Amino acid sequence: MDYISTRDKNLKISSSQAIVAGLSKDGGLFLPETIPSFSLAEIQAMAKMDYIGRAAQVLSAFLTDFTKEELTEYISQAYRREKFPPKEVAPVISLDAQANILELFHGPTCAFKDFALQLLPYLLTASLKKNGVNKTVVILVATSGDTGKAALEGFADVPGTKICVFYPEGGTSNIQRLQMTTQTGENVMVFAAKGNFDDAQNGVKRIFTDKEFAKALDEKGFLLSSANSINWGRLAPQIAYYFSAYCEMLLAGRIALGDKINIVVPTGNFGNILAAYFAKRCGLPVNMLVCASNRNNVLTDFITTGTYDKNRDFYLTSSPSMDILISSNLERLLFMLSGQEDEKIRELMNQLVSCGRYTVDDLLREKIKAEFACGCADDGKTFETIGEVYKKTGYLCDTHTAVAVRVYEEYRAATGDKTPTVIASTASPFKFAGSVLPALGEKPQGDDFDLLWALAEKTQRTPPPALTELKNKQERFTAVVEPKKMKDAVAGWLDVK
Ligand SMILES: *Cc1c(COP(=O)(O)O)cnc(C)c1O
Repeated sequence: MDYISTRDKNLKISSSQAIVAGLSKDGGLFLPETIPSFSLAEIQAMAKMDYIGRAAQVLSAFLTDFTKEELTEYISQAYRREKFPPKEVAPVISLDAQANILELFHGPTCAFKDFALQLLPYLLTASLKKNGVNKTVVILVATSGDTGKAALEGFADVPGTKICVFYPEGGTSNIQRLQMTTQTGENVMVFAAKGNFDDAQNGVKRIFTDKEFAKALDEKGFLLSSANSINWGRLAPQIAYYFSAYCEMLLAGRIALGDKINIVVPTGNFGNILAAYFAKRCGLPVNMLVCASNRNNVLTDFITTGTYDKNRDFYLTSSPSMDILISSNLERLLFMLSGQEDEKIRELMNQLVSCGRYTVDDLLREKIKAEFACGCADDGKTFETIGEVYKKTGYLCDTHTAVAVRVYEEYRAATGDKTPTVIASTASPFKFAGSVLPALGEKPQGDDFDLLWALAEKTQRTPPPALTELKNKQERFTAVVEPKKMKDAVAGWLDVK
């Protein structure tokens, strides 16, 4: 199976080449030229497998220059017992007559990004080997919180790789910072960067485009790469858990084979919900995909009106991983729904760069509306939903999940749609105890760890050890750098002039 660029469908490469490249040279994103398909019988057979078996089945249909044995080995390693509880890799929990929660936060960093970032190191190092690239790959990440830790945890001590993360000094929560600065591993490095997230991001971009530095790195046997969410190697692993969720619904007797489900996803960069769309295109019986946004509701407006407009105020919300105005992965959806019209995509994306907005034609807008419902919930609604769901069902949502639950409830009330529904839960509520606790009517007091334990006591739950143990861990990385000195910091760490 070939992979093509959203901005040039004649540019064809293999899946392993797409993983090595990340972004296409023309600025486009890679996706498979044809979509594999799964029959109901195959889905039924998957229900008898464990998570690793299901993921191997799905991924081998997409990553065709890897054997199923190779993929099974990587997946078994990535989702091994010390990383994910074996029976609870991606459990589905019933909320009410229609609604079910797909918990995606049982990985080492307590957010769904672990599914992709635990596996990516294996896919990336194997892809380099397959393509005869004999270099140590150096992953550079600028992070506002969750991605940096998930990438560190994935790449720590993976042979043939090194990873360096920059986070904005003072721009993350204390827990998020400690998650990064206490990271173990011989091949990891973490810096605080002065300024905000954009400064850190721009600093990393400058390093990536510095040709002289690339040459110096090359001479020392290093190759720069990113663990950004536009890499196909990050998207593909996410398709698997929607198949797994369908299997769990079958096993629980919540649906019969062939019944359709809705999928609701709290959305930022449009990666996770795009994976759900791929699952549908592969034959998973899916009715509507519901795109849930927080107050940064650029996608709600787009799906409703057909105009994408990033010229608007940016809000910091209680669901920070969805605070985003440019949803990069949307480009892949537009390419697929327009019938691979690469020229049109180039035009739209150029408009986004030059004026910050674009409008799709009526036909494309109708196609989007036929597949996607949408809605948004501000912090007030988010907190209300956390409190109400807990009171009604005993289920404890994090802020991101609560956005999705609220948008689903409003969708269900407005449409009367009774289709069984899976709502993606993207983070552990303990990661955002400072918001969840007041939503349950408690007064937050003390530091992040006090809040975590107060939430545990209030809800009679055990907080994830990965978070509570941070309190006693040694901070390994305390250096702070000016954005202009980020390259020097990387060079010093790698001992490259
Ligand atoms: C990254 C993230 C999201 C947004 O996912 P996208 O794939 O960017 O749409 C939602 N919730 C949490 C907790 C996240 O970390």
